[in-house]
Amino acid sequence: MKNLFKLFVFFSISLLFVYSCTQKEQSSQPGYVIVIHGGAGNASNKDINEEQQMIYKEKLGEALAIGEKILSEGGTSIEAIEKTINYLENCPLFNAGKGAVFTHEGTNEMDASIMDGSNLNAGAVAGVGDIKNPISAAIKVMNESEHVMLAGKGASDFAKQQGIEIVDSSYFRTQERWESLQRILKAEKHGTVGCVALDKNGNLAAGTSTGGRTNKKYGRIGDSPIIGAGNYANNNTCAVSATGHGEFFIRYTVAHDISALMEYKNLSLEDAANIVVNKKLVEAGGDGGIIAVDKNGNIAMPFNTNMMFRAYSKSTGEKEILIFK
Ligand code: ASP
Repeated sequence: MKNLFKLFVFFSISLLFVYSCTQKEQSSQPGYVIVIHGGAGNASNKDINEEQQMIYKEKLGEALAIGEKILSEGGTSIEAIEKTINYLENCPLFNAGKGAVFTHEGTNEMDASIMDGSNLNAGAVAGVGDIKNPISAAIKVMNESEHVMLAGKGASDFAKQQGIEIVDSSYFRTQERWESLQRILKAEKHGTVGCVALDKNGNLAAGTSTGGRTNKKYGRIGDSPIIGAGNYANNNTCAVSATGHGEFFIRYTVAHDISALMEYKNLSLEDAANIVVNKKLVEAGGDGGIIAVDKNGNIAMPFNTNMMFRAYSKSTGEKEILIFK
């Protein structure tokens, strides 16, 4: 009888243990998160009228849907970022790929970078003028070369060798961007694109692609291809993609600073991102914003300008597409 009781207790405890383990697995059931941006700036909602806002939102929504589909089917964060950014690069509304802004000399020079938070691998291209989708070239640099950043003609030669599509430089020329150079806009036009994602395997990644700043000179490179400045991902903390006045983002190592505040000070993503964007950058005079997702799927999208094109979607069903505050 005593032994039977012991057996009963043993089985009950075992059952409870198995149940609690499966519950744990269920509650930490991996989900996915994707966040995108299409640049930050000081345009007001008079500068971008309602009809234009609708078009921007439609394009952001379409880009988001591409990444969502990949992540929901179990694709990696890198795959989702590449295809989502490719869509934005091919859309002339944004300052990346087709639609890239013009340099002082009237050319288009693009920068892009990618970082894999699972192993801290990274790749970037800078100052490229003939690669149709710079983010795809950055991924090739990460996966197929022993380097992190390739620039100019060398980057194009490498991309071509890797089977990346090369186009005539006239492909990037859009009338609106040309006029924007001619006017040398008082309010600088932004429109860099970026994407951060957490996939079902819990891997974070970040990607950023840009034409840089209108009227840039002397081969100027911004923060977007610089790991730690305009782009950063680390599975232990978060994935960040930035947009704004690149010189400040480089000097304040913005993307890595957010990750470091989480790692060393144990701050939440929201607090870390706010300190960097709304305090440090504001005090320094650096315009812009960031999008970020942490390892638990929390997101942050702070910006210190009037607007930032941004959108996110989570496997929980939460989704928003926003422009102004
Ligand atoms: N950060 C980019 C650069 O400085 C531009 C932007 O995001 O608008 O090149």
